[in-house]
Amino acid sequence: MTEKQIVTRFPPSPTGFLHIGRARTALYNYLFAKKHQGKMVFRIEDTDKERSKKEFENNIIESLEWLGITYDEGPFRQSEREDVYKKYLKKLIDDGFAYLSQEKPEENADPAEKQKRTEVIRFKNPNKKITFTDLIRGVIEFDTTDLGDFVIAKSLEEPLYHLAVVVDDFEMGITHILRGEDGISNTPRQILIQEGISAPRPLYAHIPLILAPDRSKLSGRHGAVSVTEYKDKGYLPEALINYLALLGWNPGTEQEIFSMDDLIAQFDIEKVQKSGAIFNEEKLKWINKEHIKKLSPETLEKAVRPLLEKKYAVSAEQYAKIVPIILERISTFGELSLMIDSGEFDYFFMTPSFDLSNLLWKGKGDLATAKKHLSEVIVRLEKVSESGFTKESVKEAIWPYAEEVGRGDVLWPTRFSLSGKDKSPDPFVLAEVLGKTETLTRLQAVVAKL
Ligand code: GLU
Repeated sequence: MTEKQIVTRFPPSPTGFLHIGRARTALYNYLFAKKHQGKMVFRIEDTDKERSKKEFENNIIESLEWLGITYDEGPFRQSEREDVYKKYLKKLIDDGFAYLSQEKPEENADPAEKQKRTEVIRFKNPNKKITFTDLIRGVIEFDTTDLGDFVIAKSLEEPLYHLAVVVDDFEMGITHILRGEDGISNTPRQILIQEGISAPRPLYAHIPLILAPDRSKLSGRHGAVSVTEYKDKGYLPEALINYLALLGWNPGTEQEIFSMDDLIAQFDIEKVQKSGAIFNEEKLKWINKEHIKKLSPETLEKAVRPLLEKKYAVSAEQYAKIVPIILERISTFGELSLMIDSGEFDYFFMTPSFDLSNLLWKGKGDLATAKKHLSEVIVRLEKVSESGFTKESVKEAIWPYAEEVGRGDVLWPTRFSLSGKDKSPDPFVLAEVLGKTETLTRLQAVVAKL
C-alpha cells in the first residue's frame, strides 16, 4: 500500500515585505514536506486588491530564494483563478450550502448609499459543533453558531478570502496546513466550506506566534521584522534559517547549529511548542557568528574583501593576517561594514594619529617614563628577526621587561603607539600583523615626538 504523498503550502498575502514570522511558517512547511518526501505549493493570496502589491509579491519571492526555501509548485495567484472560484460558488448555491443575500445598507449610511441594495453570497451555517485535532495543540472544538451565515463572496466574480483558500487547498491537494496560531479562528469557517464542497479535511498544525521580548506580538516597532532587513544587516541566510527553525522548535538535544539538511532530517512538527517564542537578536547574532566560522575560505573572502576594499588596498598577506582578528570581533558582516566605516581597523593600514597623553596607562605617570619604556621596547624588538616576528617571539622579547617595570606601563603605550585606539588587539598581535619594519617605524615615530 502506498501512503498518500504529503503536500504542504505557503500562501502569503502580498501586503508587505516577507515578515520573519511568515518566513518561519514557510520554513516549517518546507521542512515538513521535505522530511516526508512530499511537496510544497506556493500560492500568492492576492484577493484583497487594495492591499496586494506586486512589489511585495516580488519581495516574498526574492526572500524565499535568498533563504533557500524552494517550492515544488507555483507561484499560483488567486487573482488569476476567479473562474475556478466562480464554479465552486455556483455549486455551493445549487447544492443549498450558500445563498444570495440582499444586504440592507448600514443604518448610518448616507442617503445615496441607503438607496442601494447590495447582494452578497452567504454560507448557510449549519450551526453545529466542529472538532479537529491540531498536530501541535491537540483537540480543538468550536460551535459555529456564533459565526452566523458568514459572507463568502461579494458576487460570483468576487470571492472572499475563506472561500478562495478552501477551494485552492482542495484543488491543490493540500494534506497538511501548517500556519500561524492566528489562523485558528479561521479554521471553523474553512471546515464548513470544505464540507460544502465535499473536500477532505486536511490536517492542521497551528504554530505559536513570534513574540517580542516584552511578550507582545513582534511588530515593526520592535525593530527589524522583514527578511530583507536581516539580509541588509549582513546576516547569512543559513543563520537566519537556523534561528527561525529554533524559534518554537527544538530537537530535544543540545545541538544548536543546523544546516538545512540537518533540519530536514530532524524536524518534527509534533515537537513544536505551544507557547509563543520570544525573538532574541543576540541569539541570532551568536548563531550567525557560528555560521560565519563554517564558511569556506573562498566564500568568506568573497564577503569580507569587498567590504575592506571600499576603504583600503589589501594585499593577500595583509588579508590573511587580519581576517582572523576581524572575525573574532564581529557577529555579522553588517557589523564589519560599520566598523570599517568608523575607522575601527584603520591601524592595520595606516599610521595612527593620536594625542600623546593617551600613552599614559590609566592616565597616570609621565611621558618621560613612557618614552623610556618605548625606547627599551624598540631595542628589544630590533633583536627579533624579521622572518620570526610572530606574536610569540614579540611577547618573549618584551614580557620580562614589562614584568619588571610594570606591565600596563609598558604594554599600554606600546599598543597605543601601534593602534592609536583604546580598544584593539594586544600589542603582540598588532606587531605580528604589522611586521617588524612597520612596528618599529611606528614606535620610533612616537618616541621622536615625545
Ligand atoms: N494568506 C494568509 C496569510 O498570509 C495565509 C493564512 C493560511 O495559511 O491559511 O496570512
